[in-house]
Amino acid sequence: MSIFEKLSEKGHEQIVFCNDPDSGLKAIIAIHDTNIGPALGGCRMWNYKSEKDALRDVLRLSRGMSYKAAVAGLNLGGGKSVIIGDAKKEKSELLFRSFGRFVEGLAGRYITAEDVGTSVKDMEWVRMETQYVTGISRALGGSGDPSPVTAFGTYMGMKAAVKYKLGLDNLSGLKVSVQGVGHVGYYLCKHLYEEGAEIFATDIDQDTLQKVVKEFGVKEVAIDEIYGLDVDIYAPCALGATINDDTIPKLKAVIIAGAANNQLESESKHGQAIRKSGILYAPDYAINAGGLINVANEMERYNRERAFMQAEGIYDTLMTIFSLADKEDVPTNVAADQVAMQRVESLSKLKSIFLTRKNPMIKRDAW
Ligand code: NAD
Repeated sequence: MSIFEKLSEKGHEQIVFCNDPDSGLKAIIAIHDTNIGPALGGCRMWNYKSEKDALRDVLRLSRGMSYKAAVAGLNLGGGKSVIIGDAKKEKSELLFRSFGRFVEGLAGRYITAEDVGTSVKDMEWVRMETQYVTGISRALGGSGDPSPVTAFGTYMGMKAAVKYKLGLDNLSGLKVSVQGVGHVGYYLCKHLYEEGAEIFATDIDQDTLQKVVKEFGVKEVAIDEIYGLDVDIYAPCALGATINDDTIPKLKAVIIAGAANNQLESESKHGQAIRKSGILYAPDYAINAGGLINVANEMERYNRERAFMQAEGIYDTLMTIFSLADKEDVPTNVAADQVAMQRVESLSKLKSIFLTRKNPMIKRDAW
């Protein structure tokens, strides 16, 4: 398939190949859609086996960002970038500043942030060359760690699922299993504890696990035990692809609501399978959008209170998705895509107004 055919296949607007022999930078920036705003998405540094793999990944991830931003109600499009290289050995100030210059060259069509393999520190180097970067530390006026906002949004999404599936207004007395109690899982346990849920958790890191056991009375369970627990809600907050052929038959939970990315091993197959088994699934990119909401807030002078307020909206977003799924008789992940696509399509006519009014960072003449 030619590059242009590849772009057209899933509606991508632009790919930028960045090559700088002086710094060793080999990067690809993919802009999927800018109809409702500039394309925001993290910069991943990964030792890809081939350039083809890197291109495939950046195209897939940038498209995912369009859906995530649209469903979260943000005035942003979808983009992503990948730097080809070993994040443990090949990082340097020169590399990230060089990358920053390429981002600056796009004049705001793409806004970068940290992602797998990159850190806040790397983004601070990027920031020396471009203003189009988010996820900067609080000390430098940025939004800092997004995990508390992600966890709060996940908690709100879980409450929506409980209301929709069980008709309950709170989580008191419900049993919740949390897989992974790292950055997001920790704060999620805190919300669950404060609302009186009974929490079961697992983590491969014993220190991390013991922290929530001590602070929130969490009951620890073994790694493999998490799927078959007799609980109401399963909250995946560690890895992707945990909803698959092996785990679905084991699940006793009637709700899946967690922060992990890419929870369904196969979007089409396993979305359908969990619907069939009567489990209500809160689509990952809709329930974990708090992190994106947090960095998006950085673009309009970061305000933590506003970020939390917007993350509260995840409750209503999920209610809309659940109702649509039932109305159309489709899996909730399909309904989420429909909500996202519909928003992009209906707002695409407002392109110019959104770019100039809602995003002060974007200069009108840059477009
Ligand atoms: P994290 O690395 O801080 O926490 C993940 C935890 O999972 C760690 O404590 C790790 O030890 C544990 N873990 C790893 N493998 C495990 C296994 N097999 N079983 C049980 N526990 C295991 O990451 P995080 O920032 O808390 O993010 C958690 C998930 O949420 C990730 O999938 C991430 O992509 C997603 N997410 C995070 C944010 C955010 O704001 N941090 C935003 C959106 C999505």
